[in-house]
Amino acid sequence: MNIAVYPGTFDPIHNGHIDIATRAAKLFDKLIVAVYERPGKNVLFSVEERVEMARKAFENNPKINVESYNTLTVEFARSKGAKVIIRGLRVISDFELEFQMALINKKLAPEIEFLCLMTSQEYAFLSSSIVKEIAALGGCLDSMVPAHVKEALFRKLKETSFGVPVISLRD
Ligand code: ADP
Repeated sequence: MNIAVYPGTFDPIHNGHIDIATRAAKLFDKLIVAVYERPGKNVLFSVEERVEMARKAFENNPKINVESYNTLTVEFARSKGAKVIIRGLRVISDFELEFQMALINKKLAPEIEFLCLMTSQEYAFLSSSIVKEIAALGGCLDSMVPAHVKEALFRKLKETSFGVPVISLRD
């Protein structure tokens, strides 16, 4: 069975991620969307919440499973028998980091290939940070995230003081 892993923070999952995962799933027998338990960056949602939102997003795609992990990504991929790690590329600035990560991971696990899929044009601007920022300012998220993610964002907004740094969209 040809298995690929699509790792990320998914805080929260958005339509750009969903597009990459759906396209990647067509290339493999099975795609595992792998949610980092403890990413290096601050997260708004717990790992359980991020996994649940991602699971719901792919509930109608039998080729996509969602799991969390807290090891090296290549170790997780190995443990699942995956030979390919998928990443998405939006802008040129993504390339530098992805290139570095691919080379390091290749040293750690030479048998695993890194496959970067280009974003679809309509999602080129989309990131989880932008989505959180728009939610914090009460903007319309309809074309950016599924309805259940939008609800979860606004629920968090009510529950917490929603410490999302609003950097660019206030003015
Ligand atoms: P990470 O912390 O690993 O960057 P993210 O959840 O931000 O986790 O992103 C996971 C993957 O999805 C990364 O490869 C990222 O480049 C890709 N990605 C994020 N947003 C988009 C988008 N709009 N279009 C295509 N790929 C994207």
